[in-house]
Amino acid sequence: MDGKTVYYLPYRGEGEESFYKRVAETAEAQGWWDFLQPRQLVGVKTHFGEEGTEGFVSPFFFKLLASSLKKRKVLGFLTETATLYTGHRSNAVEHLQLAYRHGFTYDEVGLPLIMADGLTGDEDVIVPIKGKFYTHVKIASQVAKANALIVVSHMTGHALSGYGGAVKNLGMGCASRKGKLSQHAVAQPVIKTKKCKGCGLCLRWCPRGAIRLEGEKAFIQKEVCIGCGECLTVCRNGAVGFDWGETYERFQEKLTEYAWGVTQALRGKLFYITFLMKVTKDCDCMPAPLSRIVEDMGAVAGRDPIAVDSAALDLVERKAGRPLSEIAHAVPYRVQIEYAKELGFGQPDYRLVEL
Ligand code: SF4
Ligand code: SF4
Repeated sequence: MDGKTVYYLPYRGEGEESFYKRVAETAEAQGWWDFLQPRQLVGVKTHFGEEGTEGFVSPFFFKLLASSLKKRKVLGFLTETATLYTGHRSNAVEHLQLAYRHGFTYDEVGLPLIMADGLTGDEDVIVPIKGKFYTHVKIASQVAKANALIVVSHMTGHALSGYGGAVKNLGMGCASRKGKLSQHAVAQPVIKTKKCKGCGLCLRWCPRGAIRLEGEKAFIQKEVCIGCGECLTVCRNGAVGFDWGETYERFQEKLTEYAWGVTQALRGKLFYITFLMKVTKDCDCMPAPLSRIVEDMGAVAGRDPIAVDSAALDLVERKAGRPLSEIAHAVPYRVQIEYAKELGFGQPDYRLVEL
């Protein structure tokens, strides 16, 4: 399989479990795992979903994947990293407890769970790159030490990166906490006091304790804020704004450089599957009732994360009949793809093979 090839498995309404079975059988039939060798330590990177979310890829799929890896005598493990925000995934203990509640147990899936960045998200490996922003990136240790990585993503919209797919799963999802901080440090929010209802939700999600209530209104201490954007995403009253200027682009370029660094650490031994099911406006970090922005569409897979993301976006937009910025967040959303091409990290031109 060359990097240009992106496999597309359309969802035919057969039910989720049947669809996951078809993906797993297709993976075997098409030799997606032929690049793996017996006894290699292979990470399976996914998102276990924040408390209250439902869009994450089902443990059932990973059970099927585990079975394929075991047949090949591959030593697979599920892996994730800590979040910056103070939800239920900011340290390994709470993160694993949540993953177990969502069904990602060894009994259920058959893969051990190993937090890639340690107990508190600070264990990383420095990977040199030649980017515009970075000469080196800080990648979660256990991802960098793996022999190969299978990146299983859930396509969503995203308030800062426009969309979340393979590149985001790599760049943000495989960065240590310091790496995540560095990517986010580009802009700061402002509270629109007329709209703020003083509900306090943003205080609970702010990873830095940068927000306090003054009277009935949120107030941000600018010297403490790291510009992570969690308050923007979590506020349901439209009371947080960002003076982004060019920072959507800068954030996404930094994210892309981090993703590039992960692929360099793994010397190209990666494979990507992105599910276009339960596509929501926000990513699986946001605890919101499931609300699809487009019908369930299936999955795309390939060896080039840029080709896979590009195909995923095109398919979603074709189905919706509108650009992603009209059905999710009105932000520039193809920067990851365009910048990756400029870096020589991947190619957005793909050959879609429908299976
Ligand atoms: S979440 Fe929004 S409405 Fe609630 S306190 Fe924060 S800014 Fe105000
Ligand atoms: S952008 Fe700043 S104020 Fe908002 S959640 Fe992040 S650190 Fe807190």
